[in-house]
Formats: sequence, C-alpha cells, structure tokens
Amino acid sequence: MKIAIIGAGPSGMMCAIAASQIHEVDLYEQNEKLGKKLYITGKGRCNLTNYTDEESFLENIVTNKNFLYSAIYTLSPIRTVEMFNLFGLKTKVERGNRVFPSSDKSSDVIKTYEKILKKNRVKILLNTRVNSIIKDNDKFIINKKASYDKVVIATGGISYTLTGSTGDGYEFAKNFGHHIEKLRPGLIGILLKNDFNLAGLSLRNINLKAIVNNKKTFEEFGELLFTHRGISGPSVLTMSSLINKYSDIKLSIDLKPALSYEKLDKRILRDFEEFKNKDIDNALIKLLPRDLIIYILEQSQIDKNKKVNQISKEERNSLIKTIKEFKLIFDGFDLIDRAIVTSGGIDVKEIDPSTFESKIVENLYFIGEVIDVDGLTGGYNIQIANSTGYTCGINL
Ligand SMILES: Cc1cc2nc3c(=O)[nH]c(=O)nc-3n(C[C@H](O)[C@H](O)[C@H](O)COP(=O)(O)OP(=O)(O)OC[C@H]3O[C@@H](n4cnc5c(N)ncnc54)[C@H](O)[C@@H]3O)c2cc1C
Repeated sequence: MKIAIIGAGPSGMMCAIAASQIHEVDLYEQNEKLGKKLYITGKGRCNLTNYTDEESFLENIVTNKNFLYSAIYTLSPIRTVEMFNLFGLKTKVERGNRVFPSSDKSSDVIKTYEKILKKNRVKILLNTRVNSIIKDNDKFIINKKASYDKVVIATGGISYTLTGSTGDGYEFAKNFGHHIEKLRPGLIGILLKNDFNLAGLSLRNINLKAIVNNKKTFEEFGELLFTHRGISGPSVLTMSSLINKYSDIKLSIDLKPALSYEKLDKRILRDFEEFKNKDIDNALIKLLPRDLIIYILEQSQIDKNKKVNQISKEERNSLIKTIKEFKLIFDGFDLIDRAIVTSGGIDVKEIDPSTFESKIVENLYFIGEVIDVDGLTGGYNIQIANSTGYTCGINL
C-alpha cells in the first residue's frame, strides 16, 4: 500500500519507520531538514522520554490520558529506549528518570531517526509543504498530484511556529469534518498584574497554589522564577498545563510550606527577638529573600519603617498569613507561540485509540501533538509522539 505521512517530527518519523516495514512510505516535510523542533528540545539535549513504567508514565499526562493507554502499552518508554539503543543511539538516565542521548546532542537523536528511515527506504520529501489533501473515491490526492491509499497527519501543534508546526493539521482535520478542541498554551509562563520589580528572583521549595472557579484547587511544589511580566520555572510550567482551560484563576505562593502557621509564628518571634531594635524590613532578612520583603510587608499592610518592637500581634498574624498565602494577580498566559506544548487539538472522541484512524474518514490518521493530548515536562511529550506514531505505523 502507498502511504503519505505529513510532518517529520518524532511522531511522523516513528510512524514512517514502523510502516515502512511493509508499505511504501512518502514522508512530507515543509522544512529543509527533519525534526526541526526536536533539535531545540531539552535545551538542545533532547529529553527523549521518561524511564518509567506505563502506569507512572500515564500519571504525567495532563489531557486525555485514557485515550493514550493503548499507545503507551504498545510502545512503552522502556521499549522506546531499547529501540533507540538497538538503532545505535547511546542514552543515559538523569534526575527524575529523564532520558537523554549520552552525547547530550539532540542532533544525534535526529540522525538516528534519519539513519533508519533511509535504511527502510522511506522517501523523504524535504522543502515540500502539503497544501491540500483531497479524498477522491478510495484514494487521497496530495497537492493535486500524488495519490495514496492512506494518509497520516503528523503536523504537530501551533507552538514555536518557526520550527514548522504552523497548525496546518487542524485545517486538514476541519476540512474532513473533525472538531478541534480549543487550542491553548501548555507548559508556559504565567503573566501577572502585580506591580513587582522582581525579574530574575528565583524561589526554591515553595508551594504554588491556584484556585479555579472559586472551588477547585491545584498545588505545585518546587521552583519558581520571576520574569519581567510574571512567573515561570518548573512549578509554573506544570501549573500552567493544569489550569489552562480555566479563566477565573486565583494564584498564591506559600513561601514556607514546611512550616505550619504556629511554627512560622515561633520562628518569626525568634527573629523579632534577635532584631528587636531594627526596622521590620531588616528583621526579615533571615526568613525571606531581600527583594521580596517590601511586597510581603505591603500585602500585610505593615509600614516597612516600623520598628520590630512596635509590631502588634494582629500585624504579626497578617505577616504570617501573607508568607503562607502571598497573592499573585493572574493576568493570563504567555503567548502560545512560546509554549512548550499546545493543549487542545483534534477531538479524541473522533479517533480510534488503538490505530489512530479517524472515525469520520476511513484511511485517514492523526498522531502526535496535533491530537488533543499533552503531558508534563520530563520527556512525556516526545514519548506521546513516538508511541502514537509507532502504534499507528504498525496498524496501517
Ligand atoms: C522549546 C521546546 C522544548 C521541548 N523540549 C521537550 C523535551 O525535552 N522533551 C519532550 O518530551 N518534549 C519536548 N518538547 C515538546 C516536543 O518537542 C513536541 O511535543 C513534539 O516535537 C511533538 O512531535 P510531533 O511529531 O507531534 O510534532 P512536531 O515535532 O511539531 O513536528 C511536526 C512537523 O510537521 C511539519 N509540518 C507541519 N505542517 C506541514 C505541512 N503542511 N506540510 C509538510 N510538513 C508540515 C513541521 O514542519 C514539523 O516538522 C519541547 C518543545 C519545545 C517547543
């Protein structure tokens, strides 16, 4: 059978590798080279997957994890590593089970795909953008000339469009009658309305909390970085993916999650004793980052020039509350073009999860980020691409 795969990201390349065992495969890529987005992944090192079992892997899928069950069991993260090792790529496992090429070069991952694609005689059509896919009886006609029995759409999301993921797959899908779940930025910085001058300040071991629609609460422990317009860093990226479908969002930081209110009070009293003749802002330097103190005092409604021995019990309680619930005013998410992943996409209800064939159009398939699936940081998104690509490829 003659198969066309549109897009040479990890999902399209893996699908082509699997399908070319028995089919004739043409791989279309609008860029001048394969895997342009892969090249910049993991800060140029490519965090290929997460070395963990299927169940723990699926715990890190944010959207439609049940839909991915079959694909992740068909090509598990551990089997993926074994497969790449067999293809000749040496890998290593780092903190948090993150898998990288031993060379620390994402280009080596791309070269590995390329080597196997060529070995399997996949026809790679670079600099070839697919503009139209038309179904004519039981054939698909691409760009008004080439004819195929089956077409796989592997065009990615709409983040980092310079890498080629320009959203074409959504248009193809819509033309074939598919519904697209609203596209949203995932793993992205959060913008704030607060008038902070804190860019560059990094906080460790904090607890970021979000209350959405005044009822549901999300919490994320870890590291947070203040940027020029808001916050970023690991805890923020994860949080953004968890809350990006809501608009009524209240954010706060617990700056001392290891201390209860009572323990924090005792700790503050000790510091107050030590600094009793100082201004309050100087009495907090052991407890809080210096740059943050004025904002903490402001939210606690305490005059920063007050002496420690003038602070009332009410003021101290207000200070404790602010340290445990430092308020951030949500002002949206950063641009989708800067997102690590696109949330939303082709509705999973219209795709068969064991083959990735459209339930609307026979012999049409969708794989990778173009589908309404996304995972957290740690190698989960490339694994989604590889598992969906492989599962589709062996079932074509
Ligand atoms: C900065 C950054 C860092 C990341 N780091 C990691 C990481 O370390 N680990 C991880 O798991 N995930 C990471 N990700 C996410 C991961 O890269 C993506 O989820 C993954 O690449 C999606 O694979 P895909 O094959 O679905 O799509 P893509 O990789 O986006 O590939 C789609 C391809 O389709 C081509 N295409 C699109 N339209 C057409 C058309 N009309 N005709 C022809 N070709 C077309 C595009 O040019 C592109 O090459 C990162 C993302 C970014 C932006």
